[in-house]
Amino acid sequence: MTTETSALMAPDPSAPFERGTITRRALRSDDVLIEIAYVGICHSDIHNARDEWAPGTYPMVPGHEIAGIVTEVGSAVTNFKTGDRVGVGCFVDSCGECDACVSGEEQFCNRKTMTYNSKDAQGNITYGGYSTHIVVREHYVLRIPEALSLESAAPLLCAGITTYSPLRHYNTGPESRVAVIGMGGLGHMAVQYAHAMGAHVTVISQTRSKEADGRRFGADDYRAMSEPGTLQALRGSFDLIINTVSANIDTTALLHTLRLDGTLVFVGLPVDPQAFQVSALTSRRRSIAGSNIGGIRETQEMLDFSAEHDIAAQVEVITADEVTEAFDRVVDSDVRYRFVIDAATI
Ligand code: NAP
Ligand code: ZN
Repeated sequence: MTTETSALMAPDPSAPFERGTITRRALRSDDVLIEIAYVGICHSDIHNARDEWAPGTYPMVPGHEIAGIVTEVGSAVTNFKTGDRVGVGCFVDSCGECDACVSGEEQFCNRKTMTYNSKDAQGNITYGGYSTHIVVREHYVLRIPEALSLESAAPLLCAGITTYSPLRHYNTGPESRVAVIGMGGLGHMAVQYAHAMGAHVTVISQTRSKEADGRRFGADDYRAMSEPGTLQALRGSFDLIINTVSANIDTTALLHTLRLDGTLVFVGLPVDPQAFQVSALTSRRRSIAGSNIGGIRETQEMLDFSAEHDIAAQVEVITADEVTEAFDRVVDSDVRYRFVIDAATI
């Protein structure tokens, strides 16, 4: 039986959100039906809904930071049962056969299905978590540890894993000097994880307004771009930079803050192409890199690590009626640090 689901949808790239109804597929044998409790607003939802990246399909139902409760399982489901606390992130299917899938890095599968604004293997458009229910193959469902509240766990499904994964990939530990650029949804998670992994952490924000929070999240140092000479004073400081900024930034100046063999990792996805001076790489054998969310296995590891280290997102819970305004507030960096929609209001 299909499930009729209330959803919050963007009718086109510039119109406010509207309530509507979507149909979730009848459960297949390996599917799980989830009643959504909370869903985070990621800056990617804004890029997508406003059609800032590839052309989107409308009406669009965003949402890939989903936390809820299992209400039904298919006949062959073995890992979940009714009542379990679960999460869903940025993708809901992949081919299962390619090198990326076999190695547990499904985020790099060419045939994966994104949670929304994507087509599934049957050619159906996918709709995301700004809704009351979702049906997902069990392999793509995560278990939320009891120690985490559902509202503060929801953002971990994207903001958490997107920052945890590159920190792990570049072997962050007590010897590492890490800088986090931009302390928004992703950035405030990056600070907590890098600190928990033992690194010396510097936040580089636009202003001093988030300094007390940054230090509470575990930053050892905090700098503001608005103050002249900030990056100049940090030349040669870092092994790893996690750049979470969604807008254009002076990449050359950032590269110069890396030590010998340091790496600047882009996780923020500015719309424009970015330029940089090549000598900023060659002069200290520096690297520039990118990272894309994380695989299912690593996402579960991140959730368990978060519970173990008492790490969670700091959230502002809002109703469905506040989402249109919340998008503008995220763009203005006016959120501490993730809006999470109470799905009961959708
Ligand atoms: P967010 O909450 O808006 O945080 C971005 C932060 O960047 C802001 O809080 C702000 O921090 C800083 N910033 C914003 N505009 C800036 C500007 N013009 N100049 C300098 N700094 C600026 O967004 P988010 O949800 O964390 O997402 C950040 C980016 O990551 C987006 O582009 C999103 O699409 C992308 N993303 C990528 C992946 C991936 O897998 N690679 C996954 C999720 C999201 P301060 O106030 O501290 O300056
Ligand atoms: Zn996201």
